Amino acid sequence: MMKYLLMKRVGLLTLLFWILSFFTSLLVTLNAQAARLAIVIDDVGYRVHEENKILQMPVAISIAILPNSPFGRKMAEKAHQQGREILIHLPMAPLSKQPLEKNTLLPAMSREEIDRIIQDTIQKVPHAVGMNNHMGSAMTSDFRGMEKVMQVLSRHHLYFLDSVTIGSTQVTKAAMGTSVPVIRRNVFLDNVQTEAETRHQFNRAIALARKQGSAIAIGHPHSTTVRALQQALAVLPDDIELVTPGMLLNFGPPNKNEQQIAHKCIKPQKPEPVPETQLDYLKKVGKALINNVIVDTLNQHIQKLLERLPKQGASNTLSNTAESQVIVNQKVNKKKLQQKEDETGAHQITDTCSNF
Ligand SMILES: [Zn+2]
Repeated sequence: MMKYLLMKRVGLLTLLFWILSFFTSLLVTLNAQAARLAIVIDDVGYRVHEENKILQMPVAISIAILPNSPFGRKMAEKAHQQGREILIHLPMAPLSKQPLEKNTLLPAMSREEIDRIIQDTIQKVPHAVGMNNHMGSAMTSDFRGMEKVMQVLSRHHLYFLDSVTIGSTQVTKAAMGTSVPVIRRNVFLDNVQTEAETRHQFNRAIALARKQGSAIAIGHPHSTTVRALQQALAVLPDDIELVTPGMLLNFGPPNKNEQQIAHKCIKPQKPEPVPETQLDYLKKVGKALINNVIVDTLNQHIQKLLERLPKQGASNTLSNTAESQVIVNQKVNKKKLQQKEDETGAHQITDTCSNF
């Protein structure tokens, strides 16, 4: 009789375990659909103190380097060592009168002149995979000017991130018919340089990423931006995945950089002690899923059963369920791997219009 009751309990336990495994897979699947947020820090190359703090942030945060800045090359090398995505922050003519960077692109420049300047910036900002505009309200709103830029860029295998410094930007239109992938900035983090406003804009970017599936935010190496980012990133919601602009385009050298980025994006965690018994293992799985209401309820049932179960019997019978969990985990890992390959495997030229 006792044996029958024990077997019945163990059967129920196995069933509950499989339901638990199902919800584990479901949670992993839901997490795979996390909203993707790309953050780019512009104007890099002048403020080493603040920029070094940015390089201590998650490696998915990309930097856009001014080619004629004093520390641009040094920052590019440092960022590249980390596996961080680098953009050339190309100075382009603004509408307002203000001091210009050396070699600022003007709409009236010839294609040869633009080509010469872009080649020079590629030399000065090594390892860049993309480009975005510094200022540029006059240049980016000039279709003919941007057409020349896109023709040159298509030969250099660089994507273009439109900073959208003017509503009438012609970047997308000018890239049509070329092989240059284009994406657009959604949010400026620090038009108002206060921590509160930057945090507010960061939350706006998160809301947009959830709504659209992805969003791109641009900030600058201001001390207020650095502090606001440090705070916001420390409590980044679980459904938000930090990515690079290139990852949003499936763009860049196949695999290497993105694999490194994906690896380094994982928040560092203390290694957990290996469970001593299979009972510990089961308890651990339940604990890991404690935040989910349904799974939590199931977990409580399992805990109750575990308390009632004679220790020896449970230890023997649980070997099956523990092995089953390993198989489930292997399946989940395989699924993750497949997804990673989909994200990084193809060296695609994206339809320039598909993101709008
Ligand atoms: Zn800029």
